[in-house]
Order: sequence, then structure tokens, then C-alpha cells
Amino acid sequence: MTAPNQQLTERLAAVQSDIARSARAAGRAPEELTTIVVTKFHSAQLVRELAALGVRNVGENRHQEAAEKQAELSALELTWHFLGQIQRNKVRHIMQYANVLHSVDRVALVNAIPSELPRRDCFVQVNLTNIPARGGVAPADLLTLAERVLEHPALNLLGIMAVAPLEEEPAAAFERLRGYSDALRGLHPAATAISAGMSQDFHEAIAAGATHLRIGTAITGKRSDNNYDQQRTPGRESHE
Ligand SMILES: *Cc1c(COP(=O)(O)O)cnc(C)c1O
Repeated sequence: MTAPNQQLTERLAAVQSDIARSARAAGRAPEELTTIVVTKFHSAQLVRELAALGVRNVGENRHQEAAEKQAELSALELTWHFLGQIQRNKVRHIMQYANVLHSVDRVALVNAIPSELPRRDCFVQVNLTNIPARGGVAPADLLTLAERVLEHPALNLLGIMAVAPLEEEPAAAFERLRGYSDALRGLHPAATAISAGMSQDFHEAIAAGATHLRIGTAITGKRSDNNYDQQRTPGRESHE
């Protein structure tokens, strides 16, 4: 049913060995790291192939697309990570299929989550730029947000998440992130996780202590950005 995909197999193995090498170079054990394969804009079939290759964590960033894929693949043993900006009126739907939210970025979003929902793991997303549209809470407001998350019965705070800025060396940005992670652990010692590192910067993220890597194109191949839309919802605009 799931024919082995040679290219995918090779890219996955290559990234896994690069990750292990970066981890050892940083004096860390590769087993400390969780690799989330980001499958946005790719078909459910690709996710099936990844699962057949042993992938257990997948990431998506758009609600509609993620909901459809998860519904189609609910029989697979996958942990679904939601990485995109979350609208308040979508959060309860997202929490039905996503096991982990990486993008909790404002108090208003936390307040919109009904307390009776089943508990989900989450990260607070911090903005490493001064551009609010990039998503993430401003560092000055990080601990206030984390306090609200900690009070919420449906949220279990794992740690902090960020995307490296386009206009800065990732190593420098991830060092700041490590400092914010220290501050967060000062508030809540169990919030040890750091979600950082994408295809282009996972080496730097690992060096700065990342525990959860979110890797798309290096494994899945280039996203022809309307791959998914063409297959499922012809005519819909896609954007990243
Ligand atoms: C798309 C995406 C990724 C993966 O990016 P690649 O460059 O394809 O590895 C990681 N994190 C987030 C939040 C994303 O939206």
C-alpha cells in the first residue's frame, strides 16, 4: 500500500544523521531531541510514507489542512504538532486533533480556551524580532503569558518556542532564546523544552539547547507551495 519512496527515505536518513552529529558536537545525546517533520502543503500520502519510515511526530501550520490530514490518518500512531498562528475562534477545534500546540502567543488566546477541554501539551512562542506580525509574545511579556498558561487546566506547559529571524544570525538569536528559556524555567522548572531549529538552522538550534526540532523541506523536499491546495481544495490561495 505504501510504496517505499527512495528520495524521502534518503533525505530522512541524512537529516537524522546530521542531527545526531550536531548533537554529539554540542555534547548532547541525540536521544534528547524530538524531530518533528513539518508536512504543511504536502499530501496525506506523504505523511503515510513518513509514518511507514518510522516518523512519529508531524507538524502542520494551517488549521483546515491539518484537520483534514489528521482525520484521514487518525489510524496512524502519530503525534500532531500545531505550529502556526492560532485564531481564537479556531483554538478549540485545533485542540481536538493537535496533541501539542507550539504557538501559544497571547493571553487572549489562552482566555479563549474552554477549561473543560482535554489537556494538551503546549509551548509559549516568543518573538525574536521587533516585528509583531512575525508571531510570538514580546520577551517582556513572556512570563505574564506563561503564568496564564500555568493557571489553565487544559494546558500543560512544556517550554518555549521560536522561529529564527530572517535578518539575524540564527546562533545569536538562539542564544537569546536560551536566556528566555532560563527565565521561563525560573518561573516553572518543569518547562524545560525548547522548540527551535528548522531545515536551515537546526545545527545552531541544537548548539543552543533546542529539544524539539521542526524540520520541513530538508526531509520532505521543496514545497511547491500549493501542492496541497491543488490536491484538496482547488483555487484556494496558499501562503506561507
Ligand atoms: C514551515 C515551518 C517549519 C519548517 O520549515 P523548513 O524550513 O521547511 O524546515 C518550522 N516551523 C514552523 C513554525 C514552520 O511554519
